[in-house]
Order: sequence, then structure tokens, then C-alpha cells
Amino acid sequence: MTFDLLITNGALLPLTPDMPAEIAPGFVAIGGDRIAAMGPMDQLPEMPVGRRLDAGGCLVLPGLINTHNHSAMSLFRGLADDLPLMVWLQDHIFPAEARFVNEEMVYWSTKLAAAEMILSGTTCVADGYFHEDAAAAAFCETGLRAIAAQGIIDFPAPGIPDPGKNVETAAAFVGKWKNRHPLLTAAIFCHSPYTCSPRTLQQAKKLAVETGVPFFIHVAETREEVEIISQRHGVTPVAHLANNGILDRHTVCVHGIWLTPADLDLLGQTGTGVAICPSSHMKLASGIAQIREFVQRRIPVGIGTDGCASNNTLDLFREMDLFAKLQKTSRLDPTFLSASETLAFATSGGAKLLGLENDLGSLAPGMKADLVIVDLNRPHLTPCYHGASHLVYAARGADVRDVVIDGQLVMAGGEILTIDLRETLTRVRELAAKVTSSLPRHQR
Ligand SMILES: [Zn+2]
Repeated sequence: MTFDLLITNGALLPLTPDMPAEIAPGFVAIGGDRIAAMGPMDQLPEMPVGRRLDAGGCLVLPGLINTHNHSAMSLFRGLADDLPLMVWLQDHIFPAEARFVNEEMVYWSTKLAAAEMILSGTTCVADGYFHEDAAAAAFCETGLRAIAAQGIIDFPAPGIPDPGKNVETAAAFVGKWKNRHPLLTAAIFCHSPYTCSPRTLQQAKKLAVETGVPFFIHVAETREEVEIISQRHGVTPVAHLANNGILDRHTVCVHGIWLTPADLDLLGQTGTGVAICPSSHMKLASGIAQIREFVQRRIPVGIGTDGCASNNTLDLFREMDLFAKLQKTSRLDPTFLSASETLAFATSGGAKLLGLENDLGSLAPGMKADLVIVDLNRPHLTPCYHGASHLVYAARGADVRDVVIDGQLVMAGGEILTIDLRETLTRVRELAAKVTSSLPRHQR
């Protein structure tokens, strides 16, 4: 046996109940795409090693899992801020998407987002957008693990001029990408209960069940949405989804802010999970998701960034900090959500939400080798008493030094190895120049 990659001398945060909270100094040995062995340095076995990485003065943790993103929207970062959700969507984002979203845009903007995510310690992302075929192709080239979901909406959308073909387009996407690349999982993403008819929801979910792929949907994001669904269907958005057979453990509800106790019970009884996007919820003033109610009902919860147009970064370190502090503030309870509990939502919680808990979310022999090395040798991370505290409350994505995904080193010494960053930045700037020149003069 040989270790392909051996990481030594780091402070390990396994994030699994079977092991100590911190092993320092420790080693992680990787064989192929999985963790072969790990433990304290004095238990390091004698074994031939392919590549060594010294993580002295660093924290070694499982890769962060971004459970909700629209990666290609990185092109629209900062295009329209400080607006209510419906105005932002209908007057700015939907028109920009209608005009500028095409395969080339999705490919390059997804690559840009993948670079940002890898550089800030994300090793797995759940993405949903249009022209997802181009996003999937981009993800496969970057070495980032991805759940790529083709978007479905009941009006003309990029790549789907006839909304009558939206489910058919998703079916072709799943047919092409399911089991095509080891790092990519094909999936389906219905935009929301207010932009998809009951018939569309049912057909899309049927497709997801028949093909065995995950299903995503934005739900209960704003009070306005609750009013719209109540007027149209006489029930809450979650009850509406339940009535249409959408809720089960393979469905991820994104946002889940405006929920009644009965909605929460429906999610708990059906095993449906929720992706929470703290920055997006704050920036659009959507509200605050109530994590304690989810935890009490054992509803799987992960953290997401949402797209760059409503965040405006893809840094999960920032999301963890906001995730914890929003809960403390809304409950006036500083004890609710410790740093280590918050870190678990961004790792093992996200893995469970996405159905990947047997492979991802903790450091242990047999798990996939998706891990992140954070450099503590910086003023804002010195001294370090508790690793989890620093990761949630003090570190930022830029403190990530190295990233391993599926056993492959994709970032080393602060440099991304799988993406031509200069070319990607150039191509996205060229696309952005077209967006800028299309804006009315007062908005440029
Ligand atoms: Zn979203």
C-alpha cells in the first residue's frame, strides 16, 4: 500500500462524534480518492508516500459544502443591490438573464464561481441554473465536486424559449449527465411554487423520482410568496408542495423562512431538508430562518451562499459567521448555535442534506478525501485556543492555503491548480463589458 498524499503536522478537526474534537499535531493519509488513515503524528505508520504536504501551524478540516448557488450569476455580482426581492428579480435579474445568459456566459461565469469557491475552501456545491449543460462542463474541468441542477420555470428562460419544453429540457440534461463524471451529480431545480404550475412541479418531480436524482426548489422565501400561494391555492407554499407530492428526503427546499408549525411538521415527517442562505436572507431582507425548529424536528439543514447577485460573495466562512449570529440575535440567546455546531452545518449537515453523508462532511478513514487546510499564521487568527471558533468567527475564505477534492490537490499554497484564472477573469470581464454597455446611462 502507498499513500498518494500525506498531510502532516496540522491540527485536525475530524468533525465526527467518533473522534476527538481536535487532533494536534496530526496526519491525514490519502490513497486514491479516499482518506486511508489519520491520527496523531506519533501514530504515523511507515509507508511509501507519493506527495507530502506540511500543515504545521494550520487547521485541517473537511471541505465546506455550499448547498445552494446559481454559480453563473457571478456575472451579475453587484449589478443591482438594495432592492426588494420581487423588484430585484422582475426589473433587474430576469431581464438581464433574458438578454445575457447563454452557453458561453454560463460556462465562463461558472468557472469564475468555481475558482472563488475552491479558493475559499468549498469542495462541493449544489448548483441550479439554466444552460446547466455548460455549467456541468465547467465544473468537470475545475475539479470541484458539484450537484448540477437544470432550472425549470414556467416562462421563456435562457435556452428554453418555449416553457412547454422545460421538463423535457431537464430530462435531456439528466440523461446526458447522470453518471457521466465521478465529481458530478445531475439534478433538477424548479424555480419556485409561484413560477412553476402544479402540473410543472408534478412532472419535474416525477422525472426526478424516475431517474433517481435530487430535486431543488426555492420555497417560503418571502411573506409576499406566502400571500401569492395562499391566494392561488388556499394553502401555504410548503403545504402546496406537499399536496403536489414534492416533499421527500430527495427534495431540498431552499430558504424556508416563512414556515408555520404545520409546515415544519410536514418537512420533518417527509424527511425534506432545507438549505439556508444567511447573506441572501439579510440582503434581500427576506427574514430569518428558525434553525432551532428545524433541529427539533431533525430536518436536515445545510448552508448556502445563493447566487452572487444576492450575496455578493461565495465565501462560506462569512456565511457560517452570519448563520450563527443571526440565530443568536433573533432569539436573544448567545448560547444557541456554538461554533462547532455551526461548522457541522457547513460540513456534515450539508452532506446529509444532499444525501452524501456516507462520503462527505467529516475526516475519517474511508470518507472521500475532500479537505481544506487553513493557515493560522496570521494576526487575525493568533492565538488559537479552539479551531472551530476561529473557523466560524475569525477566518475568511482568503485564509485557505490548500484544498484537496476527491484525493486531488486542486489548490496549493494559495494558488488554484485546475483553473486558468487569468483567462477566466478576462473572459468574464469581456462579458461584463457587454452588460455594462446595455445599461441606461444613469445605471452605469
Ligand atoms: Zn437561489
